[in-house]
Amino acid sequence: MALPNKPVGELDAVVDPEIQEMECDVLIVGGGMAACGTAFEIKKWADDDLKILLCDKASMERSGAVAQGLSAINTYIGGNAIEDYVKMVRNDLMGVVREDLIYDLGRHVDESVKLFEEWGLPVWKKDADGNNLDGAKPAKSLREGGEPVRTGKWQIMINGESYKCIVAEPAKTALGEENCLERIFIVKLLLDKNVENQIAGAAGFSVRENKVVVIKCKTMMVACGGAVNIFRPRSTGEGKGRAWYPVWNAGSTYTMCAQVGATLTMMENRFTPARFKDGYGPVGAWFLLFKAKVQNGLGEFFAGSDDAKAELEKFMPYGGSAVTPTCLRNHLMVKEFKEGRGPILMATDVALNAFLKEREDAGMDPKALKKFWKHLESEAWEDFLDMSVGQAGLWAGANVEPEKVGSEIMPTEPYMLGSHSGCCGIWTSGPDEDWVPTVEGTRVHQYKWGYNRMTTVNGLFTAGDGVGASGHKFSSGSHAEGRICAKQMVKFCRDNDFKPELMQTAQELADEIYAPVKLYHEHVGFTTASGVNPNYCKPAGMMMRLMKATDEYGGGVATYYMTSGKMLGICMDLLQLMKEDCEKMAAGDLHELMRAWENLHRIWCVEAHIRHIIFREESRYPGFYYRSDFPKVDDENWKCFVNSTYDPKSGEWKCEKVECINIVETDPWL
Ligand code: AMP
Repeated sequence: MALPNKPVGELDAVVDPEIQEMECDVLIVGGGMAACGTAFEIKKWADDDLKILLCDKASMERSGAVAQGLSAINTYIGGNAIEDYVKMVRNDLMGVVREDLIYDLGRHVDESVKLFEEWGLPVWKKDADGNNLDGAKPAKSLREGGEPVRTGKWQIMINGESYKCIVAEPAKTALGEENCLERIFIVKLLLDKNVENQIAGAAGFSVRENKVVVIKCKTMMVACGGAVNIFRPRSTGEGKGRAWYPVWNAGSTYTMCAQVGATLTMMENRFTPARFKDGYGPVGAWFLLFKAKVQNGLGEFFAGSDDAKAELEKFMPYGGSAVTPTCLRNHLMVKEFKEGRGPILMATDVALNAFLKEREDAGMDPKALKKFWKHLESEAWEDFLDMSVGQAGLWAGANVEPEKVGSEIMPTEPYMLGSHSGCCGIWTSGPDEDWVPTVEGTRVHQYKWGYNRMTTVNGLFTAGDGVGASGHKFSSGSHAEGRICAKQMVKFCRDNDFKPELMQTAQELADEIYAPVKLYHEHVGFTTASGVNPNYCKPAGMMMRLMKATDEYGGGVATYYMTSGKMLGICMDLLQLMKEDCEKMAAGDLHELMRAWENLHRIWCVEAHIRHIIFREESRYPGFYYRSDFPKVDDENWKCFVNSTYDPKSGEWKCEKVECINIVETDPWL
């Protein structure tokens, strides 16, 4: 059970925290959809004597990207061909993806969705006449052949306000509450003292007690989500607490795995979602369910114009596709803004009234029409209320009547993730199938070198946002990928008779983790205001520094996502200075201690991002970012992965090109 926060505010941090040492076979770091997938599945495969622990920095009922709930599940294959799913993902991510991982995910994802429904998640179904039962009336389950309400080819609608609670409960029940350590923030992963390139444990601290934990393990799954608050957000002041992706995702997955030598892939990729302005409300249901279109400031539906088509042709991968990739949809919007034709409106009024008119023309009587309208209106609000309550609040507060006026949408600040329409992450081994290509060369050049979803560090697995070059998993796919890892980790334990031993003592680790607290106590008496001191800086200021650097030089909203080799070089210099100054970060309470370490995780993750953008001399994702010195998509030279590896011994980074192999037919491309 999660310890409640103190009624009086954050707990002061002390210089000599308690140290708790633990040992297990399997350690799950994270508590989101992927981690819940692993936790639930692993008990099916593990012998009773296998000790499994899970550490979540928050409370599993409401942690991770699904914390607030969702109104749709965006990956449900159903009657579609898995090959088509691979094609869709490949197309949306501009051609450079790991098709083996995507195919593998496609064949496991539906089982997760069926489980969710069995655990109590209401899935919208159709009756025999094709009418929507709203997830409220009795219907056959998906497993029994019930037909879900599809918004798009891959998406289904749910009543998902409590989605995460529903998924967390069986995960916790499977592991046992006593094995779920909540409110523990993992700071770093630990390699084995004796076995080269083998994971052996992790160290972190409680954000509710003055306690450091050091956990030894044989194998580990790290799924701590993507990275948020790495670029200056459009919102200011207290509004910064509202972001599109979860504000607590600090890039910990990428940083912690990179620091122990795991190879990263496609870290140049980012997701810059177009959302309802200021409230970050979802657009998918509007585009897909309500068939809404976007209008520029002149009232033009620009996305379908001849100009737009010509513009898209410049960048479309491999000769065009049926659905415009997400980044290119953004590109069209960015172009409108840059050329002075903002604001961009989601024409909710046009879309809703078109639905009404269609019914009216079909002769629906006024009473039924009124009922239909009420239903439509509540669906529109519910879309926000299920997953983005703030957007509903903003609409209500601003007197927005969506049937009368359109609402502004806006490309947001960039995020790093591997599960939505982005694909940065960690390079993992593919499924053990003959069709997974193995390329001659060094170990990291192969698609399959060990257990499915294992990183290039032995025993270290990842899932969800962690697995790179394989986006569009969303909530269901992340859960399914967590389940995939579970079986593999049990196999790893059975195959490898190894006893983990750490390089550092628990006290050394505690001293390192609590260094910001020690620094604070040493110098706090020097000034009257504890936040201003010549001997230390505070985490809040460091975060603003990071956001300013990325925004201005790394292609943030300040420059309409434009950067260049020169700008990126400045960004790298600033990051190096920040890393040095992080040693002077001080923390007076446990919340600040978490912020201090989150900052370091964010800075490392951004550094990898910038290194990759520098290395890839093209603009692969127009609309997400542009390099002014290499403004085109250059398939001839760059239809390849960019992988990077940090060497924990030498402290050096290496970036390299890795061949991208198509497995699923490319003709037709989609
Ligand atoms: P979102 O609400 O934007 O997170 O998107 C939900 C789902 O809808 C994802 O599967 C998106 O890829 C998809 N989607 C959103 N907008 C569009 C669009 N304009 N065309 C096609 N698919 C979309």
